[in-house]
Amino acid sequence: MVMTPFPADALFDWYDRHGRTLPWRSRWPALAPAYHVWLSEIMLQQTVVATVIPYFLDFVRRWPTVCDLARADSDSVMAAWAGLGYYARARNLHRTAQIVCQDHDGHFPDTVDGLLSLPGIGPYTAGAIAAMAFGGTAVVVDGNIERVFARFYAISAPVPAEKTDIGKAYAAQHPGMRPSDFPQALMDFANAVCTPKAPACGSCPLAAGCAAAAAGTPEIWPVKALKKPKPDRQGVAFVARNDKGEAWLVKRPERGLLGGMLAFPSAGWTSADGVVDPARPLDAAPFAADWHLQPDTLTHVFTHFRLTMRVAVADMGSPDMAGLMTAEGSGSWQRVRPASLPTLMRKVWKLAEAARPPQTGSLLRFPDPEAKAGHTGN
Ligand code: SF4
Repeated sequence: MVMTPFPADALFDWYDRHGRTLPWRSRWPALAPAYHVWLSEIMLQQTVVATVIPYFLDFVRRWPTVCDLARADSDSVMAAWAGLGYYARARNLHRTAQIVCQDHDGHFPDTVDGLLSLPGIGPYTAGAIAAMAFGGTAVVVDGNIERVFARFYAISAPVPAEKTDIGKAYAAQHPGMRPSDFPQALMDFANAVCTPKAPACGSCPLAAGCAAAAAGTPEIWPVKALKKPKPDRQGVAFVARNDKGEAWLVKRPERGLLGGMLAFPSAGWTSADGVVDPARPLDAAPFAADWHLQPDTLTHVFTHFRLTMRVAVADMGSPDMAGLMTAEGSGSWQRVRPASLPTLMRKVWKLAEAARPPQTGSLLRFPDPEAKAGHTGN
């Protein structure tokens, strides 16, 4: 089948007038440093540009090169990442920096295959780095580029099966020129003109050859497969405070949800079968204290489930908790810095801070090293 040639000239003309200036971007023939492209692309997974910009600037200020990042201690990397979510990305980021620094002399591989060998780099990110940092003509298909190609060529197989067709169309229609600009121009164009819900076909420079515009219903592309509804999970978080204004925080296990992040002790939500008895949520407390369950709940949406979290608060005076071990490991009293907490735990802290102080004395039955489940509150 003969495809309509993709109008790259019209796209570049639009990009030269309307493309965004971003801190990790260079314009052809200049190429952005691979470290910047890689860092921004990992941050942009599941996260919008406006959120990523201050994180990107903070990372390159703290760690100007990939080897600076490699030498950073992991706690400071995780703290700098806090709030961006999907924390496995930060762990892979740090590991990849160490591999690039140690095994590749601080230089990222310049081929898709070489890039794919690094942790946390999949086909899209490998293609993006190869194109934007090394000027290769690798296939780069994110959700934005997918939308433009699905519409321009009316590719109707549902997502994600249509990715193969779109990848083929992208490779076949790559203009060869300005290879680092081509995917970035497509992304900006998709964001500004060929938007998901209201594509501006009337003023679109690609409209003359666009099959979706000719059909009159561009919004129906790309065709989405039916999504399964997200399952619900319930959990409970425990905020213990002392009279210095500190809270008891644990470092979560490296593997799993919010891995390696600072958090309040919590229970019941990290696996599908981790049920907390809704009638007795305080039975899951990490240690005995005068826990007060707050009347409000918070919600948080993960990629594969929706969480409803209750929050229990205990104001504990000045307890001796040295050496206390809980199911989540050791913890410590720390001044809470919300910016160092993952978003879920920031919500927990906000809800706990809004809690009225308990009305009775708070140093009830503590310490009690034998008791893991200490329901002593309401
Ligand atoms: S004509 Fe409409 S659907 Fe086609 S590329 Fe332009 S904005 Fe997108």
